[in-house]
Amino acid sequence: MTDRIFSRDYVSSPYWWERTPRPKFQDCPLPKSSDVVILGSGYTGLSAAIQTTRHHLQTVVLDAEDAGWGCSTRNGGQVGTGIKASYPELCRQFGDDEATALIETGRRSAQWVEDFIQENKIDCDYQNSGRFHGAHSPHEFRHMCKTLDETPAALRTGAFTISAEQQRAEIGSDYYCGGIVDPACASIDPARYHRGMLNLAVQQGCQIITRCPGTNIQKQGGIFTVSTPKGTIQTRDVIVATNGYTGNSTPWMQRRIIPIGSYIIATEPLTEGMINELLPTNRMITDTLKLVVYYRACPERRRILFGGRVSISETEPAISAPKLRQLMLDRFPSVSHIRITHSWMGFVAYTFDKFPHLGIHDGVHYCMGYCGSGISLSSYLGARTGLKVAGQPDYENPLDRHEFKGRLYYQGNPWFLKPSVFYYRVRDRLSSRKNRKG
Ligand SMILES: Cc1cc2nc3c(=O)[nH]c(=O)nc-3n(C[C@H](O)[C@H](O)[C@H](O)COP(=O)(O)OP(=O)(O)OC[C@H]3O[C@@H](n4cnc5c(N)ncnc54)[C@H](O)[C@@H]3O)c2cc1C
Repeated sequence: MTDRIFSRDYVSSPYWWERTPRPKFQDCPLPKSSDVVILGSGYTGLSAAIQTTRHHLQTVVLDAEDAGWGCSTRNGGQVGTGIKASYPELCRQFGDDEATALIETGRRSAQWVEDFIQENKIDCDYQNSGRFHGAHSPHEFRHMCKTLDETPAALRTGAFTISAEQQRAEIGSDYYCGGIVDPACASIDPARYHRGMLNLAVQQGCQIITRCPGTNIQKQGGIFTVSTPKGTIQTRDVIVATNGYTGNSTPWMQRRIIPIGSYIIATEPLTEGMINELLPTNRMITDTLKLVVYYRACPERRRILFGGRVSISETEPAISAPKLRQLMLDRFPSVSHIRITHSWMGFVAYTFDKFPHLGIHDGVHYCMGYCGSGISLSSYLGARTGLKVAGQPDYENPLDRHEFKGRLYYQGNPWFLKPSVFYYRVRDRLSSRKNRKG
């Protein structure tokens, strides 16, 4: 069975790491002091560092592992707006003005990524591919159409619905009952994008110190001391950019972040004819199931990269791979002979209100909680945080107004994840089955 699923050269590391080998930094001593210390070298931390160094602040970025070891080099490369809720949902919760401001922030963040890539000539396979969001039931399709109708034209950015009859023009599958196409979404190679950011930060004088976690942050007389296994560093400002890997060195943030594993497989190369049939428009694909799936062709359009949440509790990539493969075959039965070459996972950061949060707690800046869709928001909000630390006037955005709340029952160990995933799995199966029948 395993032989039929895994290719002979199977590895349990991201496909992206093969295209862009991991950067190596020489082991260097920790400086005694710096204007800014940033914990985390993913998009958030580096985007902040690019702004602080641009404004002449000496900046040190620490990472507990290698540079970009977290989600920023492991993700699916689907660049959306990152705001989870629809305009009608946001309107009900916050009213028209705030809903508009939030949707616009998401759109602005996606545009920011495109502009940033172009301005800095980052070679990361950026493509305006758009996204097809499939409805797993007729009920979900009707709901999609209604949501789009209720969204003001100015906020739709050209999105349009596709009926079940038309859908083969978008995806070579009859799995969905129609869907919606959002042309504003794009695709990148996430590790190449990260490499571009890293090069820029280093060129601007930022110092990156890897395998050096910040283990404690103390403030005395307006100066912070950050402890690490390599010693301590004093600084005027600290930015915590640890997202799904936020740990007990920042307990206030840890109590507000729910780390959830997200898993991806890459297939062997398919024939050109096959990939053109399955993914004819090169869209990014997501769907309406509660247990999220997301997939796409790789930048050379040879392999399928298929991701999602597959297991009740966190597991090994070798165990998640056959489960993801089954979800892929449900949608594309014709790839049953294609083997898996890569399987990997990473921890995304959910928050209780499903919004990212940035702000200051006890004088420490934080920016995190992208709920699984963070390429654009981590880049954009990381930059806002860097500008704020650099004392620049234009850092504000509507997400500053949202309080970062935890729950009394949560101390950083997501004990409720197993029952929640189980519940959503049953709900997805029942709603798919019921609606497929009628
Ligand atoms: C499998 C997967 C698929 C995804 N797909 C998509 C997608 O298609 N589209 C999308 O928009 N988003 C996607 N995401 C989410 C997206 O990748 C993240 O939102 C984004 O990369 C977050 O960036 P970040 O810099 O905040 O965090 P990360 O990139 O996770 O970086 C955090 C870093 O902090 C470091 N760290 C932790 N503790 C410490 C400490 N104490 N001191 C120093 N360093 C520390 C970690 O080692 C890590 O490198 C996906 C995520 C995963 C895991």
